[in-house]
Amino acid sequence: MWRRATSLSPLIYSFKSSFFIQQGAQQKILERFTTGLPLQEKDGISPKYGAPFLTFVLGGPGCGKGTQCAKIVETFGFKHLSAGDLLRREIESDSEYGSMILNTIKEGRIVPSEVTVKLIQREMESSDNQKFLIDGFPRCEENRRAFEKIIGAEPDMVLFFDCPEDEMVKRVLNRNQGRIDDNIETVKTRLKVFEALNLPVINYYAKKGKLHKINAIGSVDEIFEQVQPLFAAHKNEA
Ligand code: UDP
Ligand code: MG
Repeated sequence: MWRRATSLSPLIYSFKSSFFIQQGAQQKILERFTTGLPLQEKDGISPKYGAPFLTFVLGGPGCGKGTQCAKIVETFGFKHLSAGDLLRREIESDSEYGSMILNTIKEGRIVPSEVTVKLIQREMESSDNQKFLIDGFPRCEENRRAFEKIIGAEPDMVLFFDCPEDEMVKRVLNRNQGRIDDNIETVKTRLKVFEALNLPVINYYAKKGKLHKINAIGSVDEIFEQVQPLFAAHKNEA
């Protein structure tokens, strides 16, 4: 079982409130689309972990992240952690954050980082697997920094499923999974949030040389043909 070296409690680590203090347009976007929780400052917290193999899977709503993750799990034996699924499970479980998460998802905004990171952390700690696909996270720079701070790790690679907006809208509105946010109004906000807050994360990883852009148009198998070699190349590291 994969465990971090430092003490397990408290599960929610505080991280510097300066993450929330951003300037100009980014700040306005952040205020509009994220639900801020007060963050306590606490110095000297930088939990260190062993070294699991981490892949972030990013892309707009309906780009096929979940579908391709299922193929990667099947072929390469990763543990799939969908941030959206973890949040939806939290709503079902009567958690203290349930109604806040529900409202945030309904509006297509971003749940506070410490809530999402805590859920991901819990799953990572209780898994026997060392290879994780983290799907739909980080959704903004603040998410990314919180993950690095709390988990003490960066992804080994990042996949970006690149899909035109009209195709994403079509897929989301046709998928019939009974999701409260799969309606045209919420989809519009989700696309705005993606462009304003998630693209900067994607650009960050592109600059770091960690990003692999996948053309998300085509059949599931055609898209997987682009994905497979990336994992095959990392097979022995993972
Ligand atoms: N969400 C979030 N933080 C995350 C992942 C998801 O706040 O790290 C919320 C957000 O409101 C998002 C919703 O959950 O719009 C659904 O996310 P999911 O990844 O399941 O769906 P996608 O938008 O990729 O279709
Ligand atoms: Mg998904």
